[in-house]
Amino acid sequence: MMACYSGNATYKNSTPAMGWKGIPMKNRFNVKAGLFLAVCALLLSGCASTRVEPANLGLLKNEIKDYYSDGDYEKEAARIGGEALARLKACPDKAHAAIVLDIDDTSLSTYQQVLAADFAYEPTVWNAWASQAVAPAIEPTLALVNQALAQDTAVFFITGRAENLREITEKNLLHAGYTNWTSLIMKPDGDKRSADAYKTAERKKITEMGHTIVVNMGDQESDLAGGYAEYTFKLPNPCYFIP
Ligand SMILES: [Mg+2]
Repeated sequence: MMACYSGNATYKNSTPAMGWKGIPMKNRFNVKAGLFLAVCALLLSGCASTRVEPANLGLLKNEIKDYYSDGDYEKEAARIGGEALARLKACPDKAHAAIVLDIDDTSLSTYQQVLAADFAYEPTVWNAWASQAVAPAIEPTLALVNQALAQDTAVFFITGRAENLREITEKNLLHAGYTNWTSLIMKPDGDKRSADAYKTAERKKITEMGHTIVVNMGDQESDLAGGYAEYTFKLPNPCYFIP
């Protein structure tokens, strides 16, 4: 391009030299700068849509195992359970109060099964393990239930476990030390509602029975969303996610 305009001093001095498609020579720098900036913007927008590499799954599993084996899970569960216990003790109308608890990894620990399955979930394997009814209690939750019973406050379990697991679930709760709960609410077989929708609807029914749910505790946000509880408490669970 430059060769087209070089060596023509007369033309260059008499009128503004013309660049690409009639653009004056003196404006060519601005055009180049504009193109440069446009290319940069394009590249940057491309970069913005590129995901950062996720955490390495193998390393993450090791981190989770350390979280449990080093006692950090236990400490955090005890801290959160202690806060829930304080709210329960402080509620003014204990006879009309209620607590709502999820079961898996809120009332009963499934961690040993999660570990045995290397963090995978396969329903047949999980149900076979559940049928043994040997999951241990999560101690801060058991303490919460015992306090509720001592102050005549109702205890409701609301679990995503299906109704066909009722017998083994009751057996496991008893084996873990839970007694005298008011109701064990299980998901009807084949119910396709999300955990959030199902559990919210069940808490609404409990409040319509005249209870004030003072504590709702779970290990998933979907245990707690949707209201119908004065205080919600989320126990740690880095192992799986239920929407
Ligand atoms: Mg759970």
